[in-house]
Amino acid sequence: MSKVVVLKCDEYNLLKVKDKINEGLNLLGGIESIIPLEKFTLLKPNLVSAAAPEKAATTHPVIFEAISQILIDHKYKFHYGDSPGFGNPTKVSEKCGLKSVAQRLNIEEADFVNSKKISLQNALINKEFDIALGVIKSDAIINLPKMKSHALQRTTGAIKNTFGVVTGFNKGAMHAKYTNAFNFAEMIIDLNKLIIPDLHIMDGIMAMEGNGPRNGNPVKMNVILISTDPVAMDAVFAKLINLDPELLPLITYGERMGVGSYHDIELLGDNLEDLININFDIVKTPLRTEDMTKVKLLAKYVIRRPYIKKSECKKCGICVKACPLDDKAISFKNNDKTTVPVYDYLKCIRCYCCQEMCPYEVIDVKTPIIGKIIYGLKLLK
Ligand code: SF4
Ligand code: SF4
Repeated sequence: MSKVVVLKCDEYNLLKVKDKINEGLNLLGGIESIIPLEKFTLLKPNLVSAAAPEKAATTHPVIFEAISQILIDHKYKFHYGDSPGFGNPTKVSEKCGLKSVAQRLNIEEADFVNSKKISLQNALINKEFDIALGVIKSDAIINLPKMKSHALQRTTGAIKNTFGVVTGFNKGAMHAKYTNAFNFAEMIIDLNKLIIPDLHIMDGIMAMEGNGPRNGNPVKMNVILISTDPVAMDAVFAKLINLDPELLPLITYGERMGVGSYHDIELLGDNLEDLININFDIVKTPLRTEDMTKVKLLAKYVIRRPYIKKSECKKCGICVKACPLDDKAISFKNNDKTTVPVYDYLKCIRCYCCQEMCPYEVIDVKTPIIGKIIYGLKLLK
């Protein structure tokens, strides 16, 4: 039976967070029973993009500092790192508040720029990944996901956070190759069979709802989750936001492929029921299965799509660079970079990389009006 520790914690107070994480680790038998002391360990936060901690897009520096102090107390040797979707990992880590913690505690930054191709036997769908050298050099991994909504997968938690071990634009190439939520989830499950974190600590004190994983709204969930099973952890996250785990292919495929279990969970720590937020802003309709390259009319008029809030666009062009398609589905008309980029929804595969990477939070994902009529007006987004 998989164990998930649920810890009520309502503020990013270092002493409090450290006490809570220690309490959770003890409920699992102590950190040294999970990761032997001699293992060179990687702390893998969520550093999706250069966002200040209060945006709730990235793992909060207090969570990072608390687990770092615990590792130092136990005399582990460790480093940290993540590959953002866009930008230099060091600069992103600086903006997210982790670099200053790392400098103060003398924690080295792992190499998340250079990578090596690693193959996976018996893959579901993807046999080879470009894995950051910093990951390859580590003997153990502590995954530090952030509790967030996600335009493509509905949620992003422990399972999805491993995607950051794939370097830079290699992630975009995966989006171009796996063009719906289901085959993309299969690829992520393959990655979770190749790179298996030993421990997961989810930052859900301040989560992100709505237009996640980069541009949603911060919402207090007041919780830290700890587990060695990412499937069980993500299922508990789903329960906390009143979402059926069966709707999420990362969870159902994860169990089917032996990454973890969501049917057999032992809850430890605080009472889950007291922390459920039934009003968490998340789309609860089933994920789409369509291949966007084949359903042109659906693509144009029905399926949730990204929109730019034109008056707020800074015309930086990052969304254009982030689009993983060779034949871009978002571009500057006539290559005029003084204008707002425009979408070609017939080309767009709905990977939502542009929405995820817009640094000014001006891309939203919404269902077109015809889609709302077809799917039912009960759709909120
Ligand atoms: S990334 Fe955002 S701000 Fe920059 S051009 Fe695209 S929509 Fe505008
Ligand atoms: S326009 Fe945006 S959602 Fe569409 S394919 Fe490009 S990055 Fe993905």
